[in-house]
Amino acid sequence: MNMHDLVKSQNEFFNSGVTRDITFRKKQLRKLKSLLKAHEKELCTAIHSDFRKSEFITLATEFSLIYTDIGLALKNLDTWAERKSIPTNLVNFPARSYVLAEPLGVSLIIGPWNYPYLLSLAPTVAAIAAGCTVILKPSELTRSTSAAIARLINDNFDPGFLKVVEGGVPETQELLKNKFDKIFFTGSPRVGKIIYQAAAEHLTPVTLELGGKCPAFVTADCNLKMVVKRLIWAKFINSGQTCNSPDYVMVEEKIRERFLKQCVEEIEKRAYSVENENYSQIINQTHLERLEALIDPAKVYYGGKVDKDARTVEPTILVDVRFNDKVMEEEIFGPLLPVIPYTDLDAAIEQVRSLPKPLACYVFSNNSEERKKVMQEISFGCGAENEAVMQITNRRLPFGGVGLSGIGKYNGEAGFREFSNYKSILRKTTHFELSLKYHPLTKMKLWWIRTFFKF
Ligand code: NAD
Repeated sequence: MNMHDLVKSQNEFFNSGVTRDITFRKKQLRKLKSLLKAHEKELCTAIHSDFRKSEFITLATEFSLIYTDIGLALKNLDTWAERKSIPTNLVNFPARSYVLAEPLGVSLIIGPWNYPYLLSLAPTVAAIAAGCTVILKPSELTRSTSAAIARLINDNFDPGFLKVVEGGVPETQELLKNKFDKIFFTGSPRVGKIIYQAAAEHLTPVTLELGGKCPAFVTADCNLKMVVKRLIWAKFINSGQTCNSPDYVMVEEKIRERFLKQCVEEIEKRAYSVENENYSQIINQTHLERLEALIDPAKVYYGGKVDKDARTVEPTILVDVRFNDKVMEEEIFGPLLPVIPYTDLDAAIEQVRSLPKPLACYVFSNNSEERKKVMQEISFGCGAENEAVMQITNRRLPFGGVGLSGIGKYNGEAGFREFSNYKSILRKTTHFELSLKYHPLTKMKLWWIRTFFKF
């Protein structure tokens, strides 16, 4: 089936009204969960062959969250989808007002490679919960994973309802020539702009889940051991290939030395190393070379080795980094941690604000004023105080960026909303009405209008 016919068949399926039935949606969500459960082993093998992502990491960081999302949707779908009453203004008396959620329709979901199950299937769960049909295009960079998702879904679902289309740029471009009711994209800001332009052709609503340089602040007044433990985990999980992991650290100058020593101690204690089976490979040679070019040997405090055959980069700490260094000009998306000391928190915040708005921002401090300052004065999509990355595990918290890090939010009810259109409806009785709008338009009527609208 070509792309045009596929989109046509999804439109027909959607227009049949089947997906409007909440029971149908729940049934599909349960089916997806049991399929994933039954095929966990082979799905983990597929991702391991793509970039040596371990079974533990895949289950803990991807499947756990997909199952949570399905559970949340099954539990709350009736409430999310129910008609919501809204108070009515006096001039419409007697009447009722309400808001009715309806599925947007045929959706296109485009996924990235770094958490390929989670970032393809979490939006899919949201779309199914909202009653949309889905065409899912996983990343071509995780070839085995993409094939495994395609097999799992295409062998078990009606293509008019849910279909995986594999491929890279040409296939995605071909898909984008069609009119969708919703496009949900996760990936880089560069490709995000291409998707946004394609969507503009049909004024299709988009969600763009993009990346950026996520800062972490560590102030002198902090529980250093605990802070470093959390920060190092957040940076090196999946070898730094995590969209909301701390990209760089702003550390208060007076604890710089202690902080750096503690980081090294933590990396070695927990064996964050290329020998560790839970330390993923870099996705491909292009990214490996990109990362290698970001390592200035003169600034390496720890690590720095790149192994081209094994496709790995050692956990690396960079010091004496300046904001105009190459490593600060782009999202790192790898296991390199630039550490930038500061003496004045206001000035440090100002520096961070000179960069595009990040997806996430973190602050580690025992001082609530310092935490409040960072959380309030920097614009970002999601964040955490005294923690990093873990906010994504609370699926009731909307997740997404702002500015160059994205448009729209999902997870939990926010995901349902992202794939829904909210119809605002006024319902009147025909028994009687306040006839202020009809001729003759008298002074008395204007007086009433002024009274009702309070002007
Ligand atoms: P990418 O933008 O290169 O690719 C994402 C998807 O877009 C892939 O499916 C790819 O096939 C498709 N694509 C690539 N070029 C295209 C083109 N010219 N036209 C149409 N489609 C095209 O991103 P990636 O390398 O897969 O992922 C890494 C990026 O994603 C990082 O910037 C990271 O921060 C971001 N990311 C964001 C989130 C989030 O939730 N905000 C999550 C994960 C990754």
